[in-house]
Amino acid sequence: MTIQKHFPYVDNNMFAENVALSDIAKQVGTPFYCYSNTAIKQNYQDYQQAFSDQDTLICYAVKANGNQAVLSTLAKLGSGADVVSMGEILRARAAGIPAEKIVYSGVAKTGEEIAYALNEGIFQFNVESEPEVELISQIATKLNKTAAISFRINPDVCANTHAKISTGKSENKFGVPISKARLAYKQAAALPNIKVQGVDVHIGSQLTQLAPFEEAYQRIAQLVVDLREDGHDISVIDIGGGLGITYRDENIPSKQAYAAVAKAQLGHLNCKIVIEPGRSLLGNAGILVTGVVFVKTGEERQFLILDAGMNDLIRPSMYEAYHEVLAVKKVSTALKTYDIVGPVCETGDTFAKARQINESTSGDLLAIMSCGAYGAVMASTYNTRMLAPEVMVKGSEFAIVRQRPTYEAVINADSVPNWL
Ligand SMILES: *Cc1c(COP(=O)(O)O)cnc(C)c1O
Repeated sequence: MTIQKHFPYVDNNMFAENVALSDIAKQVGTPFYCYSNTAIKQNYQDYQQAFSDQDTLICYAVKANGNQAVLSTLAKLGSGADVVSMGEILRARAAGIPAEKIVYSGVAKTGEEIAYALNEGIFQFNVESEPEVELISQIATKLNKTAAISFRINPDVCANTHAKISTGKSENKFGVPISKARLAYKQAAALPNIKVQGVDVHIGSQLTQLAPFEEAYQRIAQLVVDLREDGHDISVIDIGGGLGITYRDENIPSKQAYAAVAKAQLGHLNCKIVIEPGRSLLGNAGILVTGVVFVKTGEERQFLILDAGMNDLIRPSMYEAYHEVLAVKKVSTALKTYDIVGPVCETGDTFAKARQINESTSGDLLAIMSCGAYGAVMASTYNTRMLAPEVMVKGSEFAIVRQRPTYEAVINADSVPNWL
């Protein structure tokens, strides 16, 4: 019944590949994130295959999950990186992703970050505004470097996704409006030490349909024709990320079908296509394993109180996201309806309301599914709760790929001024 085939049940016990989750829990404690190395590889290879007949650079969107073991897995497969900060460049480089496979997105790149990226020699800046390209030009001139750029184009397309992860409508803060694009390119091309090389678009995340991609790529294709007419040498089209995953029952187009749309709209333009998938590489390659602390009977409902909270996984409270919650060990086949909540002192710390799952008691393990992307990376220590450790499984092996920090380390990160 699970939608994540690398987390199968064997005799009613959930495994990550060939390792029982209960064995990992014994060693690491709960809550913890668990990633399947095989699932990550498979997802990457599906993209590779879907785009194999097209000059393509896959730039994994590091913000979805920046763990070094994850990045290293992808680096070994030849992946590049889409980064949104200097920290993410450092992460990608530390994991062995070459600078010439890094594209740099983000609306607020600072001078320090731009200089660092230029010195590293990244593939291109995805520029989000006119003032940004002026700053890049100034810094590149000072450093005697040439900055390769694409403008991120806001195509004014409705992505039909949650408002907080929609980025391609004219009211969103991202990119340059398509109506102003030709002027922006003209001005950028006149700036010193700027090499205009492409166009970039990313319309949002967790898209469940191909139509918005198709509409955006159509507009981008026309823009490329227009820009070439204006005399620009356009050789790169970055089509962003955004392909969704199944959290519940969403019918997601295959990577093959997604690639077919991109190639149909853009293939004839003879450009290198850059893709920036995040969620669709990692989302269903990871889960969050948590323990039941208490079962509490309220006046109207039963609460299942977990040792994982919104500080560990914020997607339900932030995006009203649905995550499947499954018993790690199915002891009883009886189903019960619970409100599934965390320990944090916020009413918003709720993973699911009126959810039917296997009857559970204190001490049981549960798996919150589809947490490989935008899970651990968005965690905080709110309520002085330690960041959940991360574990990677490959076949019959597993390793802790980020330790749970100690209380001491977290408290010692603060300091008290001596004048207090
Ligand atoms: C977040 C982001 C991505 C990745 O989006 P997914 O939905 O995780 O595939 C790609 N490109 C840019 C510019 C982003 O901001």
